[in-house]
Amino acid sequence: MPKKAKREKLISRGVRTDGRKPNDLRKIRIDVGPLERADGSAYIEWGNNKILAAVYGPREVHPRHLARPDRAFFRCRYHMAPFSTSERKRPAPSRRERELSKVTRVALEPALLTELYPRTGIDVFIEVLQSDGGTRCAGITAASIALVDAGIPLKDLVVACAAGKIDGKIVLDLNEVEDQEGDADVPVAVMPRTGGISLLQMDGIMSQAEFKEALELALEGCKQVYDLQKEALMKAFIQEEASGEDEAESDGEETNE
Ligand code: ADP
Repeated sequence: MPKKAKREKLISRGVRTDGRKPNDLRKIRIDVGPLERADGSAYIEWGNNKILAAVYGPREVHPRHLARPDRAFFRCRYHMAPFSTSERKRPAPSRRERELSKVTRVALEPALLTELYPRTGIDVFIEVLQSDGGTRCAGITAASIALVDAGIPLKDLVVACAAGKIDGKIVLDLNEVEDQEGDADVPVAVMPRTGGISLLQMDGIMSQAEFKEALELALEGCKQVYDLQKEALMKAFIQEEASGEDEAESDGEETNE
């Protein structure tokens, strides 16, 4: 995206343009299973980002020649709605969207047990409805929840968060203005149980010491987001189980009468 004229300051007396302190995450809300037609889905609001993730599969692969004899064929599509950005986005698929589709696949794939589903396909669709910086991290975080919702066994969840540098200071979870007018951005995806990193990118310039600090801060952010992922899953599945039990109990009451 073309850069606009830089504003005076992105951080002033330790406070960022949206009122956050350097180590603060934006507010995050995760809903499990909002889409009925997908096998699994999740909706995430991460600050002003609004993103849907849908999972289909394991199912027959189209075109058929893509099927693998020994594992599932895993595909991801990251897409930004034309109305999702502050500046006009061309509706045609962009190079950036193709790159982020690949980045998403590579970040999620290590958590999958594709060998369990030979000759099938698993598809992940990420639809960015509203964007405000950090959509790749929010999309990956939502997609891993959608995979769980689809009942696809995973070695681990995948959680992503970025840290970066604005006005020479290392901060957590850059928004769009900070991303575009700041000095650097480091998105990271991690599998929290093993600590394996499946995405590490850097855009901008940092010293080695700053990079280390940013990576540690991003990993700290991932831990916080992981807690929210677990909370959302517990809420969805434990409530479901509890309402199932209630129904069974009330059915029982009826037959006893
Ligand atoms: P990420 O969303 O993962 O941080 P980028 O760093 O490429 O990815 O983009 C930063 C932000 O810039 C996006 O979240 C979005 O708000 C905005 N943006 C990206 N691409 C476009 C585009 N083609 N048109 C308008 N805004 C865009």
